[in-house]
Amino acid sequence: MSSSLNLGKYAGIRVQIHWTFWLLFLFIGFFVFTQGGSWQTLFWHSLFIIGIFFCVVLHEFGHALTARKFGIGTRNITLLPIGGVANLDKIPENPKDEFWIAVAGPAVNIVIASILFFFASVDTYTSMDAESLQDELGSITPGNFLFYMLMANIALVLFNMIPAFPMDGGRVFRSLLAMKLGRVEATRIAAGLGKFIAVFFFLFGLFYNILLAIIAVFIWFGAHSENIMIQQIALMDGYKIRDAMITEFSVLHPDKSLNHAVDRILSTTEQDFVVMEFDRIAGILYMADLAPALKTVGRDALIRDVMETECTVLSTNEPLYSAYRKLKRDNRNFFPVTEHGRLVGVLDMNNINEFLTFRSAFDY
Ligand SMILES: [Zn+2]
Repeated sequence: MSSSLNLGKYAGIRVQIHWTFWLLFLFIGFFVFTQGGSWQTLFWHSLFIIGIFFCVVLHEFGHALTARKFGIGTRNITLLPIGGVANLDKIPENPKDEFWIAVAGPAVNIVIASILFFFASVDTYTSMDAESLQDELGSITPGNFLFYMLMANIALVLFNMIPAFPMDGGRVFRSLLAMKLGRVEATRIAAGLGKFIAVFFFLFGLFYNILLAIIAVFIWFGAHSENIMIQQIALMDGYKIRDAMITEFSVLHPDKSLNHAVDRILSTTEQDFVVMEFDRIAGILYMADLAPALKTVGRDALIRDVMETECTVLSTNEPLYSAYRKLKRDNRNFFPVTEHGRLVGVLDMNNINEFLTFRSAFDY
């Protein structure tokens, strides 16, 4: 991803900074200078932000390394201006696993806060009267830096434990509910609460803290989409890929021209094609690759030169929800399906959506 700055791999997990993260420094600069601050103030505020995000990275490693203990890998840890995200390969299905993975993040900040407590000369601040406290903590200086870091870590714990699913506290809430009610019902309730809190965050944030308003939008959509995903996976429960795959489809030969593929696309509802040679899958021709290829290599070029040769092949016996996960995760959402090594079908997201439409219709 070119829009993210790669900070290297630690414990096998890549840490990256999303480009929007740098907006935070513009925001801080604006804040410091409109308050009449100096370059020195800007320096300490920026260092403070870097310090917080260092703690956020450790927090995300708390999630990621605990997830690894339960057999779930992490693709990367990404820093955004609103916080960090550990992109787990999948959401833990066992409520107990989810509970421990969710609490591990805030637990890291509790550990950091406990260490800082010994170095931040907290007692000098607690013995001050309100006025001198305000002078002392008016802006970040080398003297009060660790105290600010301590407060930031406590704030991270408190904020993350708000039960606004899919934030950590919301995941803890969902996992506890799931032990009693099952995952589908638990997610429905936790996502409902998450959306409700998000609306409050948003309205409050509009007036007092624009970052909170942005976080609220992420919470709302995060809760919404994860709830839908869990409900859909439940509808697929017990079904195999065989039950939903497309069995009437065309295959193309690699030595045919792109023009031939264009004809197929225009004359059918198909968009992506399995390319077969000598009775085996040679690759996939995606419509998304076809249009740019027509411009660069022309309509007489061969399918062989444009097709993607690396592709995921599904098997008829795989559970349908595992295909759904792959379709959601991959940016390519068209897969060939084989049985005993023979191509028998194809599967795409439209097809799964059709399956879901009929499944939910049958349920009512
Ligand atoms: Zn977290």
